[in-house]
Amino acid sequence: MIVIGGGLAGLAAGVALADAGCSVRLFEQRPYLGGRATSYVLPNGEHVDNCQHVTLGCCTNLEDFYRRVGSTGKIKFFDRLVFLDPQGMTGIMKADFLPAPVHMTGSFLFFAPLAYPDKLSIARALAAILFAGGRPKDAYAADPISMLAWLQRHKQTSTAIERFWRVVLVSALNEELDRTDARFGIDVFWKAFLANRTGYRMGVPSVPLAELYEGCRIAIEKKGGEVILRSSVRSLRFENGALKAALFDGGREESGDSFILALPHDRTAELLSKEVRFANPSLANLEKFKVSPITGVHFWFDREVTHEPFITLLDTQTQWIFNKTALYRKEDPATPDQGQYLQLVISASYALVRKSREEIIDLCLKEVRQALPAAREAQLVKATVIKEAAATFSPEPGVDQWRPSQETKTPGLFLAGDWTATGWPATMEGAVRSGYLAAESVLRSANAPQKFLQPDLPVTGLSRFFV
Ligand SMILES: Cc1cc2nc3c(=O)[nH]c(=O)nc-3n(C[C@H](O)[C@H](O)[C@H](O)COP(=O)(O)OP(=O)(O)OC[C@H]3O[C@@H](n4cnc5c(N)ncnc54)[C@H](O)[C@@H]3O)c2cc1C
Repeated sequence: MIVIGGGLAGLAAGVALADAGCSVRLFEQRPYLGGRATSYVLPNGEHVDNCQHVTLGCCTNLEDFYRRVGSTGKIKFFDRLVFLDPQGMTGIMKADFLPAPVHMTGSFLFFAPLAYPDKLSIARALAAILFAGGRPKDAYAADPISMLAWLQRHKQTSTAIERFWRVVLVSALNEELDRTDARFGIDVFWKAFLANRTGYRMGVPSVPLAELYEGCRIAIEKKGGEVILRSSVRSLRFENGALKAALFDGGREESGDSFILALPHDRTAELLSKEVRFANPSLANLEKFKVSPITGVHFWFDREVTHEPFITLLDTQTQWIFNKTALYRKEDPATPDQGQYLQLVISASYALVRKSREEIIDLCLKEVRQALPAAREAQLVKATVIKEAAATFSPEPGVDQWRPSQETKTPGLFLAGDWTATGWPATMEGAVRSGYLAAESVLRSANAPQKFLQPDLPVTGLSRFFV
């Protein structure tokens, strides 16, 4: 079995198939695994993530993947979310002793960055999601609507939209509310905040991202398979309508019975011939996906500027500050930290795409110094900016109609990738789901069916009465 692409989708497919006893050959064009969710070493010797990647308690398939590759212990989970506005007002969101869906009521009532009329409007919209068991009819009608339109329909105040819905959803879905399908936005709130008490818990890697995938090679090689890096597939060879081989630089050819293409949608479109796309109407729309950007800003200060592991900023370009020094710190460090490494995340960063590196550093430094008084005295030792213009596909209203399933009509050809039909937006969870679904399709076509896809977290507490 051949897997092409060593991002999370390809790795999940490869590891699941290896666990099922298959010998898998996985080809990746880069010298490292992890695709968009990886880390690398800068010329200055620093290990940096290709932007901070976080998971949530409701990402059950990603959790299963980390378990399969021995990385569970490399993710730190937090159940306290800290919000800070430019005036220094702090808000905390966390679960108390109450059952779902009222487990966060206490912290919500005392959440200082929102006033009571905002909270009332939010409570009404959350109730509409809850009473519909996560699928309100006005978002699931034949004509998809945007999240912003749904929020306006549910009479949300402008502060509630800016300081609550937008803050959560732009980071979770990497798109502005007027370009996001309401179904994705509502699903985030149902799965993470309403269905149970633990879905919202935030998991942050305590190691550079590439270290999370160290177990993948071992899992694949244990079953006689192989992981081959620096191997870019240039074209595919089809015979009598079936996929027979992948062709690499230097005329090298790899043949097999089943191929999982776990590539971004644009690379997949380039590799598939007109005939294949004609035979598969579901592949006719790959050019219709739009993409949205993410910008990561890395600051190294000469001293500690915050004790928090991460903070959400309100009303600023900078959306999240991650304290990488604290996140990477082992318990009981032998030597105290000398300085502090912060990583800032700006999702749907359209406003920054055309700005220079210096402009972005100046802007974000000003915001960090405004938010964290200790940073005003601290010296910025070095800084770097990583812009990903096409970070994820845009979850625009109706996008699901363009997403093909993992199984195709072409014998030997299977697809994976966060953009394929998973029901999830472009996330690590979505990528792993696609890999598991592709692996299930491969085994089904070989008359050896197996299940890899994990169920969602159970709906618990009082929320059970609404499904
Ligand atoms: C900046 C940024 C921040 C993000 N933050 C989060 C987050 O916090 N939480 C979250 O859940 N998700 C986040 N995401 C989304 C997440 O990274 C992706 O959804 C997920 O990693 C996609 O995995 P994939 O395997 O589908 O695709 P990819 O990771 O793109 O994998 C495709 C692989 O195919 C390889 N490839 C391409 N062409 C060829 C070829 N011809 N031959 C061989 N190999 C090839 C590529 O090198 C790559 O390794 C973020 C994404 C970005 C870019």
